[in-house]
Amino acid sequence: MLSRREFFATSLFVPFAATAQTRKPNIVLLVADDLGFAEIGVQGSKDIPTPHIDSIAKSGVRFSHGYVSCPVCSPTRAGLMTGRYQQRFGHEFNPGPAAEASSNFGLPLTETTIADRLKSLGYATGMVGKWHLGYKPEFHPMRRGFDEFFGFPGGAHSYLDWKDRGREGNPVMRGTTPVEETTYLTEAFAREATAFIDKNKSRPFFLYMPFNAVHAPLEATQKYQDRFANISDTKRRTFASMMSAMDDAIGKILDKLREHKIEEDSLVFFVADNGGPTPQTTSSNVPLRGFKGQVYEGGIHVPFLVQWKRRLPKGVVYDQPVIALDIHPTAVSAAGGVPGANLDGVNLLPFLTGQNKGAPHDALYWRFGAQWAVRKGDWKLLGLGQSAVELYNLGADLSEKNNLAGSEAAKLKELQTTYDAWNAKNVAPKWRTERQGRGLKKKKKA
Ligand code: CA
Repeated sequence: MLSRREFFATSLFVPFAATAQTRKPNIVLLVADDLGFAEIGVQGSKDIPTPHIDSIAKSGVRFSHGYVSCPVCSPTRAGLMTGRYQQRFGHEFNPGPAAEASSNFGLPLTETTIADRLKSLGYATGMVGKWHLGYKPEFHPMRRGFDEFFGFPGGAHSYLDWKDRGREGNPVMRGTTPVEETTYLTEAFAREATAFIDKNKSRPFFLYMPFNAVHAPLEATQKYQDRFANISDTKRRTFASMMSAMDDAIGKILDKLREHKIEEDSLVFFVADNGGPTPQTTSSNVPLRGFKGQVYEGGIHVPFLVQWKRRLPKGVVYDQPVIALDIHPTAVSAAGGVPGANLDGVNLLPFLTGQNKGAPHDALYWRFGAQWAVRKGDWKLLGLGQSAVELYNLGADLSEKNNLAGSEAAKLKELQTTYDAWNAKNVAPKWRTERQGRGLKKKKKA
């Protein structure tokens, strides 16, 4: 019989912190832009095959209640990079294009990024894609923990025009130098990401890959358009083409990990930054209510997957609510580090292996100008500006159709109190643009 000491020395009980015998896992963080809840195969998409994205769920865990901390791009990324609710440090709104951005716009320099943490743990750190966390030099990715950067600084970008004419100050860059990129941008990002893996295959690396796909503008090359000749709606056909290109790019990255025999030791996340803006791009959030820009589920409840073949179960659906803020502490823990004490995110690894059978969060919170929400267990309270609040039981009503605010006064009060306590620790937005924070448009009464 094994002694206690021998038992703990066997592989049956390896803690997640990397030991001398195990390689620290590579960390690959794939982010899709404006991807609706319903647009991947494992969540019900029928018209756009996404075999490579789906393979992450099949090789690992799919979060059925995965959230982001904001229904739009930049604030979600601020939460993702820091593991903290972005309202803690005033990063509540998008900046708008470079020419319109507030002079102080950028992920505040008081904050430590996931790349800073992993770099200090000995990781090679590379970023390929859309930054959207500051245009000025002091906010550049290579000043925020990344050794390398290929991508663009802004929030939206043409896929076919590297200069992104019409949006000043947002060229495709390698490091800090604009480059003339003539390849379809999603393919260029795949080329750069796989080259980063080739270069760093012998050491632990962190690859942050926020695609601009499938954000507008709707642009795709003929190669992808030809795959969807069966779709007659041209908008939908182009969206499908952009999705397919992104899925191909993710396939190339996963293939590259397999080619170097490091897939087993790679922690791979896939998450969307906010819900689909269905009217603009067709990106669907069915069966969720609402769209990008709203705190209804359709704006914040997103595709969210993770695989780590050596450590995590395969083909599992995890139903407790989680949030993209959890990626930072999960990655730092997997890398053998200790997450910062001021984080709002939680290390998910013990929950995913079944060591901890509880819920990672007591409650999740959102604040986006006049809109706000809190989810506690199955209950969600949301505010739409002025005094209107709505209360839903997501366990019975995921589509937020039956507002129970008028009949569940005690639950309403409990959630309001929970939200107010969280919100008391937030700060005022550091910037805002005219279009943001005005709350949901109310339907005019007929
Ligand atoms: Ca987005």
